[in-house]
Order: sequence, then C-alpha cells, then structure tokens
Amino acid sequence: MSDTTTILERLGIQSYQGGEALHSYNPSTGEAIAAVKLATSSDYEAAVAASTEAFSRWRLVPAPQRGLIVREIAEALREHKQDLGALVSLEMGKILQEGLGEVQEMIDVADFALGLSRQLYGMTTHSERPGHRLYEQWHPLGAVGVITAFNFPVAVWAWNALIAAVCGDTVIWKPSEETPLTAVAVHNIAQRVLKNHGFEGVFTLVVGDVPTVGEPMLDDRRLPLISATGSTRMGRIVAERVGRRLGRTLLELGGNNAIILMPDADLDLALRGCLFAAVGTAGQRCTTLRRLFLHRSIADAFRSKLKKAYSQVRIGDSLAAGTLMGPLINARAVANYEQAIQAIRAEGGEIVYGGSVRGGNFVEPTIAVSKHDMRIVAEEVFAPILHTIEFDHLDEAIAWNNEVPQGLSSAIFTTNLKSAEAFLSPRGSDCGIANVNMGTSGAEIGGAFGGEKDTGGGRESGSDSWKAYMRRQTVTINHSDALLLAQGIEFNFD
Ligand code: NAD
Repeated sequence: MSDTTTILERLGIQSYQGGEALHSYNPSTGEAIAAVKLATSSDYEAAVAASTEAFSRWRLVPAPQRGLIVREIAEALREHKQDLGALVSLEMGKILQEGLGEVQEMIDVADFALGLSRQLYGMTTHSERPGHRLYEQWHPLGAVGVITAFNFPVAVWAWNALIAAVCGDTVIWKPSEETPLTAVAVHNIAQRVLKNHGFEGVFTLVVGDVPTVGEPMLDDRRLPLISATGSTRMGRIVAERVGRRLGRTLLELGGNNAIILMPDADLDLALRGCLFAAVGTAGQRCTTLRRLFLHRSIADAFRSKLKKAYSQVRIGDSLAAGTLMGPLINARAVANYEQAIQAIRAEGGEIVYGGSVRGGNFVEPTIAVSKHDMRIVAEEVFAPILHTIEFDHLDEAIAWNNEVPQGLSSAIFTTNLKSAEAFLSPRGSDCGIANVNMGTSGAEIGGAFGGEKDTGGGRESGSDSWKAYMRRQTVTINHSDALLLAQGIEFNFD
C-alpha cells in the first residue's frame, strides 16, 4: 500500500473524500486504491462549456504551434513514465512491462502528432473551367467526445486526443468507470502544460457514469464527433444515438482475432507470437488471439509446445517481478470466463489446458480444442481463452477467419510466399489488420488502427486517421472575368 501511496503522491493524486465518489480497485488484491469525485450533470455542462470556449480560440492557433504544445505534453509524459506505467498496471491489472508500454504508446502518438501538425495537407486538382482554382482544405471540427475502455485506459485517449489537438479540436474525455485514476493522472499532466499556454479547456475530463455523462454526450449536438472504444454492444448504442442527430462516430469495438498456422511456418517464431497474443494482458486486448487455426499435420505437436509454454506463464500480482499474466479486471469478467468454459464443454469442445479460476480475479490461461462453428467461438470473451481449431486447406482457414461477426486483427505464419499473399489478397483476411509471421496484437502507432464489421469500421492513430477529426472544405476560386457554370450549363438573362 505504501508503494501505491507514493505513486499517487508523485502523480499529485489525492483521494476524494466526499459523498458521490467512484472507487477504484486494484484487481490484483481487490483493495480500494483511491476514490474520484463522480461528475454531476452540471460538471458535464461546465466541461462542454469550457471545451467549446477553448475551441473558439484553439482552432485559430496555427497547427505547427499546436504541435509544439503537444510536444511539451510528450515531454511531461516521458518525465512521469515510470509512475504512470505503474499506475496503469496497478489499476488495470496489466503487468508493469505492459503498463510502461502503454505510456510509451502515448509518447509515440504525441511524437507522431507533432510531425502531423506540419502535414495536414489538402489536395488541389484541375478545374474544368478556365481561370478557376479548385482545392480542398481541412478545418478543425469542434469539441470531440472521447469514450474509452478499461483495457487501454490511457493510450486510447492519446490516440484520439493528441491527434485531435493538433487538428485544432478540443476533447471531452469520459474514461471507463474501472480506471478513473489513470485518467486523472494523465489529465493532470497534460493540463499543467496546457495551462501554461492559456488553453486549459483543450482537454477536459469528466469521470462520470453512463446516464449522467456517457449518454448525454451521445445526444449532444455541441459534440460533432463521438469517438468510442469498447464493446460492440456499446458501439451499437453509440452509432444509433449519434446517428439519430447525424453526428459523426469513430468506433473501435470488439475483436475475435485469429492466427492461421501453416505447416511450413517457423514454429518457434509462431509459438512466441501466439503466446504473447493469447496470454498478454490476460487476454484483455481487443487484438488478443482468440482463435488459432492449426494445419492438421502439425496440430498435435504445436498444441503440446503451446501447453508447455503456457505452463511457464507466471500468474500473479501485476506489479510483482516475474509476473507474465495479471488478473482479470473484476468479478464480472471472471464470471464471463467461467461461463465461456462451460459453454465450450456444453458445445462439445475440450479444455486441454487451464480452465479454472485461481481465486480473486485470477484465472488460468486456457487452451480449448474447438470447432470453428461453435456458437461460443463467434463471441469475444474478454479473457485468456484460446480456441485451437484444425484445418486442412488454407482456403478453409481463411473462410473461418472471416466467418465471425468481428473483423479487427488477423495473422498467418508461413514461409510460403503464395500462402502469405493469398491471405493478404482481396479473397484473404477481411480484417482491418493482417499480419504475416507475427501475432495479432501489439500494433505500432504509425499505421491506421481499427477493424471492419462488428469492430465498427473506425480508424485511429497513424496514417491518415487525422481526417476523422477534421472537416473537409472544397473551395473553388474564380479569378477570371466570366461567371462560368459547371457542366457547361447556360443560364443567361438579358
Ligand atoms: P464497455 O463497452 O463496457 O465500455 C467502454 C466505454 O463505454 C466505457 O467508458 C463505458 O462507460 C462506456 N459506455 C458503455 N455504455 C455506454 C453508453 N450507453 N453510452 C455511452 N457510453 C457508454 O467496454 P470495456 O469492457 O471497457 O472494454 C472492453 C471492450 O473494448 C472489448 O470489447 C474490447 O475489444 C474493446 N476495445 C476495442 C478496441 C479497439 O480499438 N477496437 C480497443 C480497446 C478495447
């Protein structure tokens, strides 16, 4: 507990003592870490007012100058990386290495955003009319609502907020109810930088529940874009409600990711790739490996290797040295794990490794022998349960990869060029992410991140994802003396 107190002190977090509080619990021990004041409707209104006021000024700051302020936020995050990484680990339950990785991801996004701040380019094209110039420019969009999930409690905010900020938007953040402390810590760090520049309102944080904060955001016309990360169930609600007011959404939802293991693959490489993808973050990544398609000729041998590797995964307190797998987030997640194990057995699958709860929020990483068309295989169970499924032909494995409702991440392990290219071709994987000879999780920030179908279709972070945070304006300038209509239309009067 004293370590916890020190981390909180160094991050300047004081536990809230008042009535309407949200308590944050350490999933490793079940102990309360600290409490955060729950936002009321008037806190929400104040946040939107601050955000819209800041937007009216922030949008006029040249983008490269906005980038320099984001660079200062990156520096501040670098300074606090150890404590912040430890707090992520403490509150979310991922191991310290992954907690630190999450903070590094924020820093990487900030660096990317700085470069981007000089590259918010529009295209020009040739007008069909003489003496006319036709081009596109990109303007800031407004106050953006960002709703985040518990499993990447701060990185996902950074994917959105730091890119949105260089685009000239302001951001209202509703974090997960499970991880309010990391949100407060990150917000305070960014706030100190923004305050120095007179732009406190660029980032606002509203720690509140769904009825008081989440749903009002969906209906709020002052927020032209809602970027929401979480379950597909939540994403459907967000899409419908924001759609009703014709607002924009950027949805990053559930995944049900698969690896196809070909007989010609480098099996040692595949073993490492599968292990991290399936067991990392205790199976609580949107990109976690959930389905492993094994070519029948190597299935038994690979499963044996996998079981041996699983037996070496040390399960324990997320901050303890040597832990490779921490706890699930809460008792509900443990119950979902247990139900899924039962469902696998009920549908004729076999648990060949793990399958039990260890106590508290700790569960065993689990390997099942399943069939591709079992109902439970099509679901995203947010726990370390890996379905191994045998196949005979690559086409069959690709079809099975694609037959689930989700479409986030996918991979193939092969040394055969034709197999790799088939997987990447239009008849290959239908997912937003397709990897060769690496696992399904652990994406770099430079590429656009997101997935298709029930994963929501959104793209965040790198590449041209910034376009989601801006509005496009097509401009035609007539510098001739004639008023010419497009498509050659004559509209003369005397
Ligand atoms: P969740 O859907 O329970 O909650 C996510 C967020 O949505 C929380 O902040 C929650 O308060 C909010 N929310 C829920 N209902 C809402 C509503 N009606 N209106 C407004 N806000 C609402 O998800 P979770 O359990 O926190 O996270 C796990 C899920 O997130 C998994 O499905 C995982 O795959 C997904 N995820 C996806 C990505 C991605 O990039 N595709 C990344 C991380 C997590």
